[in-house]
Amino acid sequence: MEDFSITEVCAHDIAKIKVIASVATCETTVLVCTECGEHLSEPKTEC
Ligand SMILES: [Zn+2]
Repeated sequence: MEDFSITEVCAHDIAKIKVIASVATCETTVLVCTECGEHLSEPKTEC
């Protein structure tokens, strides 16, 4: 799990990659705030 420093979207400064969907060999991940759960990036699907 990687942590990122972020300040643009919310008042918190820590975020993590969260897997929101996993279909077959494809995983959809999004960067979310560790504190409030705010999505900080567009979901990204990797296969
Ligand atoms: Zn936050």
